[in-house]
Amino acid sequence: MSAKIIDGKQIAAEMREQLKAEVAGLAKKGIVPGLGVVLVGDDPASKSYVTAKQKACQEIGIYSDDNRLPESTPQKDLINVVNRLNKDPKIHGILTQLPFPKHINETEVLLTIDPAKDVDGFHPINVGKFVTGHKAFLPCTPHGVVRLLIRCGVKIEGTDVVIVGRSNIVGKPLANILIQKSPLGNATVTVCHTKTRNLAEHTRRADIVVAAAGRPNTITADMIKDGAVVIDVGVNRIEDPTKKTGYRLVGDVDFERVKEKASMITPVPGGVGPMTITMLLYNTVESAKITTGLA
Ligand code: NAP
Repeated sequence: MSAKIIDGKQIAAEMREQLKAEVAGLAKKGIVPGLGVVLVGDDPASKSYVTAKQKACQEIGIYSDDNRLPESTPQKDLINVVNRLNKDPKIHGILTQLPFPKHINETEVLLTIDPAKDVDGFHPINVGKFVTGHKAFLPCTPHGVVRLLIRCGVKIEGTDVVIVGRSNIVGKPLANILIQKSPLGNATVTVCHTKTRNLAEHTRRADIVVAAAGRPNTITADMIKDGAVVIDVGVNRIEDPTKKTGYRLVGDVDFERVKEKASMITPVPGGVGPMTITMLLYNTVESAKITTGLA
């Protein structure tokens, strides 16, 4: 039986409609959520992510402060921009698009962001808070994955989840959300990586497999048990001469074959991606509510 294809675009659109209504309600109280966006350099993927995030802000009524800096920007100038956004009362969230150019120390810049405006949830204070079960901004991609599961009626509690990938932005925070004693968690989680001895042995016993490796075909049909839920976070460009651009996007999962075994599966594109931006908007609105005493 073919899996239900999880429509991340549709679910994200529904959530954005709810956020739009919430933002309209805040506007009546004179509150406009604001997001400060900082992009350093000309990386085409980063540029298109930032443009998509700003368009999404506009669509739901979030004010966006756009800061595009040249590749050669010294770290101290970047930090000055972050500090200006930290002090600006119109700004409730700050997004510094990663990766930075090589001469910039990512950790030093992230530490400069006011944790109260850290809507990406990468500041160690926020990481520490949510790992210890306290309220904090949850990183957008893992939070989006969990919201997708919940919206699709997947009961997370008690399931065996295998996550492939242990990055600070996807694998590790997702594991931390899913093991929390909370409605978003209560799962039993295994995190795999390139030093995992037998990846298939782990994925085959999972109720939910999340692939965040950044490599096409990391998850094949023989690695999935019948009826598992498969979430593909990966975004990989592969050559495709039939496309105008010369490439197409694929995930980490062999979608065509795995969908014949799974009960639910996310496509790439159109699965996790739209949720990531939505959760950024969600965190920015939350931040505006917290700052103004409404949450
Ligand atoms: P990353 O920092 O490169 O981490 C990849 C992780 O996968 C590492 O932990 C690596 O293990 C592990 N890995 C790689 N190949 C593996 C294999 N064959 N078997 C087992 N583990 C393997 O990547 P990331 O930033 O987490 O991103 C992962 C993917 O998600 C990328 O394709 C990225 O573009 C995509 N992504 C999508 C969104 C979205 O919104 N849709 C957001 C963020 C990222 P080691 O630690 O041992 O190296």
